[in-house]
Amino acid sequence: MAPSSPLLDTIIARLCAAQGVLLVGHVATDGDSLGSCLGLWHLLRGQGVPAYVVAAEKIPARFSFLPGVHSVITEATDYPPYWDVVVVMDCGDLRRTGLSETLLRCAVEVINIDHHQSNQGMLGTAWVDPRFAAVGQQVLALAEQAGWEVTPAVATCLYTALATDSGFFRHSNTSGAVLRDAATLLEAGADMRSIVENCLERKTLSELCLLREALSLLTQECDGRVTVLEIPFTVFARCGVEEAEMEGMIEYARAVPGTQIAVLLRAVQTDITKVSLRSRGSNDVSVVAMSFGGGGHLNAAGCTLHLPLSDVRAAVLAAVKQVLSCD
Ligand code: AMP
Ligand code: MN
Ligand code: MN
Repeated sequence: MAPSSPLLDTIIARLCAAQGVLLVGHVATDGDSLGSCLGLWHLLRGQGVPAYVVAAEKIPARFSFLPGVHSVITEATDYPPYWDVVVVMDCGDLRRTGLSETLLRCAVEVINIDHHQSNQGMLGTAWVDPRFAAVGQQVLALAEQAGWEVTPAVATCLYTALATDSGFFRHSNTSGAVLRDAATLLEAGADMRSIVENCLERKTLSELCLLREALSLLTQECDGRVTVLEIPFTVFARCGVEEAEMEGMIEYARAVPGTQIAVLLRAVQTDITKVSLRSRGSNDVSVVAMSFGGGGHLNAAGCTLHLPLSDVRAAVLAAVKQVLSCD
């Protein structure tokens, strides 16, 4: 997709010369973060480069089908003996990896591959390009420029990245290039049906319980231009849902006609609230997320606040109303 670039050549050369590569994504992993790490892991191993995917948290069950997922290291005690390169993917700062910064900084080089608008490109050798719909698409461009073979395993991982970050080819980031790359990956053997079943269609009973509770608390503000879903901490306990298992819930708020900005507030602890934001058109929710220490894209962003849900609701809605100029 991307034209040949000297930055990509530098990254490829550095990766090929590495003695050990740690591949890390962000906390509360998603299809792009994990799919990109595993896709690059397969590609590097195909080149004989020792590579390891390291995650701060246990991998959600919906990703169990991903080729190579069982090799992901989630315990510090299992870390490899040596690495000289760390690749940080789908986020722009070491804190968001959830891993020890000291550990990551001891690498000779940090490479950052990301597509978030909020990423200022300050982390190591940074390839940050918001024109890509997913980091998985950047990894495909890297493989194409390097001439690395895209095996069915690589294709499944990268298709997962591309499909999930484009909302299964429905979000406004779904360009012709995205569909062409998806076709390339499908032809390379991506297991599309497993990806759809696990990442889109699958809903556990506890997730459905959570959805029912959340929908009962749906509210609107700004004459219906803002739709809010909230999940109090007590609901988590009642439904027995793991925090990571809630992909797609905000889509119900965004679906309500007239909604310009959708907000999902999740009390993951009594005093820790996660915020997801989605918008239509030019309403920029990344600025809202960034003002609370988070980040994201124009139409999809998020942040985590160390405050109870009710306080977060008031603060975030005030910022959202500013974007829409309503009060
Ligand atoms: P989510 O609502 O969690 O699906 O996230 C939407 C977008 O915002 C994704 O691209 C995330 O990577 C980004 N995002 C979410 N939370 C944060 C955060 N705390 N810091 C930076 N980016 C975030
Ligand atoms: Mn992500
Ligand atoms: Mn992404």
